[in-house]
Amino acid sequence: MSYETEENADAVEFLLTDERTLEQRLGDTGSYTRGILDRSLAGIRPTVEEGAHLLTLRGSDLSALIGTADTVRKQDVGDVVTYVINRNINWTNVCFVGCKFCAFARLKGDKEAYDDPTTAVLARIQEGIDRGATEICMQGGINPENPPHHYITLLEEIRAAFPDLHIHAYSPMEIFYGARRSGMDYPEYLTELKRAGLDTLPGTAAEILDDDVREILSHKKLDTATWVRIIKTAHAQGIPTTSTLMYGHIETPMHVARHIELLRQIQGETGGFSEFVPLRFIWQNTALFTQGIVKPIPQGQRDMAVYATSRLMLRGLIDNIQTSWVKLGRELSRLSLMAGCNDMGGTLMEESISREAGADSGEYLSPQEFKEMIRSMGRIPRQRNTVYELIDEAEDDYIAPQQEGYAAGGWSGSS
Ligand code: SF4
Repeated sequence: MSYETEENADAVEFLLTDERTLEQRLGDTGSYTRGILDRSLAGIRPTVEEGAHLLTLRGSDLSALIGTADTVRKQDVGDVVTYVINRNINWTNVCFVGCKFCAFARLKGDKEAYDDPTTAVLARIQEGIDRGATEICMQGGINPENPPHHYITLLEEIRAAFPDLHIHAYSPMEIFYGARRSGMDYPEYLTELKRAGLDTLPGTAAEILDDDVREILSHKKLDTATWVRIIKTAHAQGIPTTSTLMYGHIETPMHVARHIELLRQIQGETGGFSEFVPLRFIWQNTALFTQGIVKPIPQGQRDMAVYATSRLMLRGLIDNIQTSWVKLGRELSRLSLMAGCNDMGGTLMEESISREAGADSGEYLSPQEFKEMIRSMGRIPRQRNTVYELIDEAEDDYIAPQQEGYAAGGWSGSS
């Protein structure tokens, strides 16, 4: 089923055509919303209740929120939009966990089940490196057939073959399962993984960090407290992680705001998150949809509200807000750069999880396509590594194009 990209783009078309200055937009909002946005511009993060309110804004009020997030983004991280050249490797889809939002997993014996041997993983890594990848991002299903130390030995073999590659691997769910299978506690297990070659950890398997929601989405998955314990342990071991959110299913705005609050509490303690990535739920081929638990939610304004609210709630704590071209499609993810985002994520080269769920944005965006998308929004593309160090040469002669209703680097006439 198509993701109806044209309609989705229309739903946020007003973002590109709203010629009011930020001050005018703020003036047109109600006093409660205006107070939150004014305080955000002054560096005061919205409370959980205020964040939940911002997530519900639509239309003209959303335009004020987006203008505020764009201004804050410009103040805090400037006009550079980063991307990473990486290769995604979903090395097995065999999984017994049964998350109802997942269309990727297969049971052992299913004709579509696969579990790549290490030689195949190494070959795909080499292919990625040949195309310029500085990172592999490796996650898979939870396959009980694999030996207890499989996550460790796989890393050892990758590290032996590619001593300089950045290995970004294993979700907290894989850490949870791997530690249990190998009989180690989390500090011991993460130390072993680091010794074997792990550089950073994806902060996935977070979905919504609320146990009532998690029980409906996936009652066998690790609970909120365990997710937090694994992430904090990784940070304490010097293993940075990303942070994520999956929205657009059964959650309420308050769940999302509380989720972001939990992330900012962790970040305040550890400083170990490199980025925040809100991920729109892809519903088409999932049990949540076929069992009638969720209905399709139109794309567009909700996505912009999530990104913009994230920028404000995480201000001063997590600077890098990443859009998801895989989940949103190219056009909406391009537009989301106006709603507080400063990172496009990775080229991927292979992305099975969203594709199986019904996303149709493809599995690869070339660096050239990233640059064109970023420049079309009047911003400056730069290649980064996994931990946000810029690793390309700045293109000094580049002059950002002016677009109607939009000035390079921000809203026309914005304060
Ligand atoms: S999301 Fe991960 S743990 Fe859950 S069913 Fe899919 S592959 Fe398994």
